[in-house]
Amino acid sequence: MRTESRFDVSKMAKRAQAKRVRAYVGLGANVGDTRANLRHAIRAMTALPGVRVRGVSRLYRTKPVGVTDQPDFLNAVAGLDVPAGPDPETGALALLSVLKVLEAAIGRKVRKRWGPREIDLDLLIFGRHQIRVERHDHPNRRWLEVPHPEARERLFVLAPLADLAPWLAPVGWGESVETARRRVAAAEPESAVQVVGKL
Ligand code: ATP
Ligand code: MG
Ligand code: MG
Repeated sequence: MRTESRFDVSKMAKRAQAKRVRAYVGLGANVGDTRANLRHAIRAMTALPGVRVRGVSRLYRTKPVGVTDQPDFLNAVAGLDVPAGPDPETGALALLSVLKVLEAAIGRKVRKRWGPREIDLDLLIFGRHQIRVERHDHPNRRWLEVPHPEARERLFVLAPLADLAPWLAPVGWGESVETARRRVAAAEPESAVQVVGKL
C-alpha cells in the first residue's frame, strides 16, 4: 500500500511550479504605428504560456525625457501574474528575456539608448524582490535591476502604474506609487503626461 509522505517530491515540484509573482511591465513606443505596437505587445503577453495579464492601465501620451528631440511617446503599464521560477533571479530573468524577444518580434530596431523606439518593454517590478544582475562587460550597466531604478522618478511610468496599483509600495521606495506620482507630477507641466484613452 502507498503511504503519503510529507516529503513527496513530485508534490513539492508541483507546488514550486504553482508559485506566482505579480509583475508590472512598462510599455512605450514612439516610432511607427505606436498604438498598434503596444496592442501587439499586450496580445503577445496574453498568449504567453504561464502568464496571465491581470490589468492594463489607461493609455498616455508623454513628452520624451532625457533625449528630447524625438516624437512624443505612447505609454502604458500591464500587471502580470507570472511563474515565480525556482528562485527570484531566475524567474525575473526569464520574464525579461521573453520581453526582449517580444520587442524584437514587434520590430524594435537597435538604436542608441533612450532614443526613439518601436517598442520598449521594461520590467518595472517583480513582486517584493530586489534584484541586481551585473554586466561584467559594461561595468556601469546591469542585465537586470528591479524595481527598475528610474521608475520612481518617471511620470510616464508612475501615472499608468498608479492606474493599476496606487497603494503599492515597491521594495526600497519608502513611498507608495500614488505618493511618488503626485510628488513627480507637481514638478512637471500638465502637458508632460496626458491620458489619451485605452489600449
Ligand atoms: P531604461 O532602462 O532607462 O528605460 P531603455 O529601456 O531605453 O532604458 P533598453 O535599450 O530597452 O533600455 O535596455 C537596455 C538594457 O537594460 C537591456 O539590455 C536590459 O538587460 C537592461 N535592463 C536592466 N534592468 C532592466 C529592467 N528592469 N527592465 C528592462 N531592461 C532592463
Ligand atoms: Mg525603458
Ligand atoms: Mg528597455
